[in-house]
Amino acid sequence: MKHEAVAVKPIRSLQDALERCQALGMRLSRQRRSILELLWEVPDHLCARDIYDRLSRSGKEIGYTSVYQNLEALSSQGIIECIERSDGRLYGNISDSHSHVNCLDTQQIVDVFVELPPELLAKIESETGIQITDYRIDFYGYKSQDRVSETEKTETQPETTSDRSQSDRVSLSEDLSEEAIAS
Ligand SMILES: [Zn+2]
Repeated sequence: MKHEAVAVKPIRSLQDALERCQALGMRLSRQRRSILELLWEVPDHLCARDIYDRLSRSGKEIGYTSVYQNLEALSSQGIIECIERSDGRLYGNISDSHSHVNCLDTQQIVDVFVELPPELLAKIESETGIQITDYRIDFYGYKSQDRVSETEKTETQPETTSDRSQSDRVSLSEDLSEEAIAS
């Protein structure tokens, strides 16, 4: 049972992440803050080497070991996400349950929030005899050619963010739960 997970507010911004560090009594060193800032600037899943390179390029003085240690500390406290891949660990800014769409063309991993229909969950539970409290889905696929025309279509609408990668992050729960829209 994960009762405590319900009580903890999910981290949805850099500010939330910084507040969680403070609440946990973690020291917010300049380096640790830089790493969190970078992870929230680049909504992607990055390896320690990539994070080190990006910080170095932007003039931040931080050693590779320090980057790695900070990432491990942040992920072990549940402030950032750590994905184990065969070629190493990747870190992302969302720490609570979410799903991934893995692009086999670009190796990009896009965070999505997927809410499965209750009937499907009930079916899985009755088939397995296990009460589901949490789930994460990995989708795999190739870049859709339709995506280009779709973005052109939406371009006439006012944009909430100019950051392309931000708009890549989509929420599928609205599409799946029609009741949520109706209520
Ligand atoms: Zn993720």
